Parts: sequence; C-alpha cells; structure tokens
Amino acid sequence: MRPFTYERAADLAQASRLGLETGQGQTDARVQFLAGGTTLIDLMKLDVLRPERVVDITPLRSPYATIEAGPNGLRLGALAKMSTVAEHPAVLADYPAISQSLQLAASAQLRNMATLGGNVLQRTRCPYYRDPSWMACNKRTPGSGCAAIAGFNRNHAVLGVDRSCISQYPGDFGVALVALDAQIELSGPQGQRRIAFASLHRPVEGQPHIETTLMPGEVITAFQVTAGGWARRSLYLKVRDRASYEFAIASAAVALEMDGEIVRQARIGLGGMAYRPWRAHEAEAVLTGKPLTEASAEAAAAAALGGAVTHGNNAYKPELGRRTLVRALMQAKTMPVATRKDC
Ligand code: FAD
Ligand code: SF4
Repeated sequence: MRPFTYERAADLAQASRLGLETGQGQTDARVQFLAGGTTLIDLMKLDVLRPERVVDITPLRSPYATIEAGPNGLRLGALAKMSTVAEHPAVLADYPAISQSLQLAASAQLRNMATLGGNVLQRTRCPYYRDPSWMACNKRTPGSGCAAIAGFNRNHAVLGVDRSCISQYPGDFGVALVALDAQIELSGPQGQRRIAFASLHRPVEGQPHIETTLMPGEVITAFQVTAGGWARRSLYLKVRDRASYEFAIASAAVALEMDGEIVRQARIGLGGMAYRPWRAHEAEAVLTGKPLTEASAEAAAAAALGGAVTHGNNAYKPELGRRTLVRALMQAKTMPVATRKDC
C-alpha cells in the first residue's frame, strides 16, 4: 500500500471540502471517503486505488445512519450498516427486496462493517481491473484496452457493454434500488440535491473510468424509496456459484402491483448481467395490464435479455438471466403480502 494522509471529517461540510480534490473519475481520485473500508482498503492494498488522502466519514454516522419508515416511504441513511438495514422490521415487512438484497450479499462480518453508501459505489470484480500487472484495462488506465474481451470473461456483463469495457456491476442492493425507483440524497460543495438512483451510475459510453455522476466532493447522505403495494410484493432472487459469500452471476429484483391475476405495475431490476444496475423496462412493458403466467413471464424475460451481447465464456448468461427472471416473477406472484390501510 502506498503512503496516504488520513483525516477524520468533523462534519459534512468538511468532508465535502476535503473531497473536492477528488478527480472526476473515481478510479484516479486523489481523495477517497472511508466508510466501512471493505472496498476501499482492499483496492488500496491491491494498488488499484491510490488516494493521496483518505477522509474518514464514519464520525458522521449518528446523523447519517438513521432508518426512517413511515406511511409515505423509507429513508435510509447512507452510513447505515448493511446488516442493520437488512434486519430492520419495517424493511423486512414492507421492502423485502431491499432486505434480501443486503442479506444475500457478502458475509456476516462484511455486512456488519459495510455501509449502504459504500455498497452502491463498490467497484467491479473484473480480475483484470483488480490486478495492475495486467496492462490493458480501460477502467483502471484509460486508453489501455480491455483484457477481458478476448480473455477470461465468464462473469462479465452482457447488457450495457461496449468495446471499451464489459465489466459487471457486482452489487445486489443497487439492483433492488433501481427496481424500486429509489432516489438518493447528495451533499457537496454546491449544496444538496436529490437524484434518481438510476442516474448515479453512468453508461459505459467508451469511458469506463468515469463510473458515476457524482460531482467532486459529493457525499451520498441517504436513499429514499416510496411506499406502495408493489414494494411489499417485492423480492430479490440471487443465483451464484455457491450458496453463500459469493457475488451474483444472475439476479433479479422484482416488484409487482397485482389486481388478481393482472399485473397493474411491474418494476424489474437485473443483476449479474449488466455494466450497471439494470432496469428492465422492456420486460415491464410486456407484463403490464396482462395476467401473469409462465408464458408472459418468459416473454418478459426474452424482452429483458433481447439486447444481450456475449464474448465467449459468458455465452451462458442470457439464458441464465431469463430463467432467473421467470423464477423471480412467478415467486413474486404467489408470495404472501400483508395489506396495509396506509398505502
Ligand atoms: P468503503 O470501502 O468505505 O467505500 C467504497 C467506495 O465508496 C469508496 O470509493 C468511498 O470513497 C466511497 N464512499 C463510501 N461511502 C460514501 C458516501 N457516503 N458518499 C460518497 N462516497 C462514498 N457486495 C454485494 O453487493 N454482494 C456481494 O455478494 C458481495 N460480496 C463481497 C465479498 C467480499 C469478499 C468483499 C470484500 C466484498 C463483497 N461485497 C459484496 C462488497 C461489499 O458489500 C462492499 O465492499 C461494501 O458494501 C462497501 O461498503 P463500505 O462502507 O465498506 O465502503
Ligand atoms: Fe478493465 Fe472493464 Fe476490461 Fe475489466 S472489462 S479489463 S474492468 S476495461
């Protein structure tokens, strides 16, 4: 690990001021925020991230780690621990996809340490990105090429990729957030703003080293999800190579508003398939207004994976993604859902 300066942020304004020196893409950022450290320290040890200054934002925990659940929705502080949110009674009851996406991620030790804000900003697990002895990685070194395209790409993405990068977004929670139309609150040198979570991660567009739309110095302070019947009838299904402590090779977050057999609204996120947390609008359009059957679920899944592009080892992924989505939809249809007067 290279030498760096460590500073503790006394408040949000100080964190943003220190963070203002961050470069545009996070990969080459000279300043990094330290939350749980489970991504950051890992990548510093691997010499992938090389910040000159690490700004510890854990002193901000008490105001920015709260969980508020009410009739209008859920607000999760960005410094809340993954495990705390996963086990919160209101999240378990009314936003099961969120609880499951956190519960199925990483290990118990990691979930006890890692925060929500750090989770959505975790980096790809592409082995060529994580090992600087590989020269060709456009995400780590812009313009150097992509070793994965002709290399070992079994776990790489099939949606939202281009020739500059085929890496997969590895997180689970972000897939649930994108399906549930979450918003995020940001605080930075220019003040506070709220954006759709779906617009946090940039499309690749030949610039994989610029991963998010965060402005220099901006801190994620909270996540918001609106309450609704579809949020209660939501689930997160994760498929992985082993039953625990493993990243998704396919996953689906599904939220349905049903009127008997008819789908009034469908919200679908896909994980393990795409460059960034992926919203499957095409699949939603296929389902809306129709009875949910095995056949309509298969048609929706075909639409979701219609644009898949494979590169050899990951040729199995579109079929796995389709089957995962069909299974998630059929499980969501029959899951028990408590009715509430307040929604
Ligand atoms: P940190 O490491 O502290 O920060 C990560 C990044 O986010 C840094 O760039 C930091 O500057 C930035 N940052 C942190 N907080 C903020 C904020 N509030 N505002 C702005 N920037 C911020 N994840 C899954 O989803 N599913 C898995 O199956 C899974 N398995 C894992 C297995 C292993 C072995 C490991 C090591 C990790 C795994 N993870 C998995 C990833 C893990 O969930 C993330 O490392 C963790 O959530 C990151 O949170 P953190 O608080 O530790 O972030
Ligand atoms: Fe780098 Fe992306 Fe290619 Fe992996 S897939 S080597 S992260 S450019």
